[in-house]
Amino acid sequence: MPFAQPTLLSVGRATAGYASFIVALFILSMLLPGPARAAGSAPPAASRRQDRWSGLVLFGSSVIGAIAAEFAVGGLAALARHYWSLLVAANLLALAASVALFVATSTGKRRQIGDFFFGNARNPALCGLDLKLFSYRPSLIGLALLNLSVAALQWRTTGRITLAMALYQIFTLLYVANYFHFERGMRFTWDIIEERFGWSLVWGDYVLVPAFYCLPGLYVLLRPDALPIAAVPPIAAAYTFGFWLFRGANQQKHRFKEMPTAPIWGRPANTVGGRLLVSGFWGIGRKLNYTGEFLMYLNWTLLAGFHSWIPYCVPVWLLGLLAHRAARDDRRCRAKYGELWDEYCRHARFRMFPFLY
Ligand code: NDP
Repeated sequence: MPFAQPTLLSVGRATAGYASFIVALFILSMLLPGPARAAGSAPPAASRRQDRWSGLVLFGSSVIGAIAAEFAVGGLAALARHYWSLLVAANLLALAASVALFVATSTGKRRQIGDFFFGNARNPALCGLDLKLFSYRPSLIGLALLNLSVAALQWRTTGRITLAMALYQIFTLLYVANYFHFERGMRFTWDIIEERFGWSLVWGDYVLVPAFYCLPGLYVLLRPDALPIAAVPPIAAAYTFGFWLFRGANQQKHRFKEMPTAPIWGRPANTVGGRLLVSGFWGIGRKLNYTGEFLMYLNWTLLAGFHSWIPYCVPVWLLGLLAHRAARDDRRCRAKYGELWDEYCRHARFRMFPFLY
């Protein structure tokens, strides 16, 4: 087993390391210039701030820095080797951050336990940075670094990188790079618009995403057999199809929100009442961005083979989360758009899967 047992010392080191990583990203996020926020709808609090969309630069330099450091002095593999210590550290930090957030945002009102779990405020800020938007950076850059460290661990322990591992790295790096490429589109997502920032989202960002979503990579590392060459084309094709849906649908919505007259698939966008997009992916299904993301997760998990069911918990969990969220978002949109939403549902009849859901 290539993973080290946690000790008090290793958990202490992991906590200090993870905390330093978050603080470094926070300081760089404050210092680095980024393109100014574009005009368009935005969550009320964030709209009053000048957000800096420098995530792609931070992501790129973290990945290049980690790979360069691995070749120069080694050490990247230690992240995966100390997975259990990092998991404990991440939970400790998420708890501490949630308590601090709860205390800082609950001034003047009676404190309730539910507010600790789900948050007091929608868009709390520190030093001018929207904490909810910022938290995606340590979350997803942390996931990318953990994934890379799994490859480094394979390299250190076996002297080679398997085909399954190489594909896993390409698939997951593209996914995270795509997130940062469209970072500014996060202003139009459910979490930013609707959710309050409390333990639930903090835990999701700082523990769940890096430590749970990297599980398929850990099982690619532990895979006892080789990936059959014949499995590569269907897995790569299904992943690419999922990526096309995910990125295409999100991009169409972001573009529509920023510039409602922008063409979709080369034609002027069709809308319901000028407010809901019915062109492109959004005219086919109401949540094809969710379908695409699920397909991506499922296909990079298939690279782990079938020696364990544990990595499949990730796509199964994501499917449950997205299906539940699709239903919640339907209710939110029906309340917000009224009859326009009903008319939209007549155009785009299903959410994620034709004739099923
Ligand atoms: P959406 O990006 O689908 O955003 C939903 C909002 O978009 C709605 O509330 C509504 O808000 C607006 N909207 C919906 N339909 C239309 C339409 N036809 N025309 C115009 N606006 C519309 O969902 P999420 O924010 O939940 O997800 C964003 C991305 O994040 C997705 O790709 C998802 O897969 C991913 N995700 C990933 C998770 C993970 O753990 N990996 C977890 C959750 C999400 P408005 O009030 O602005 O109109």
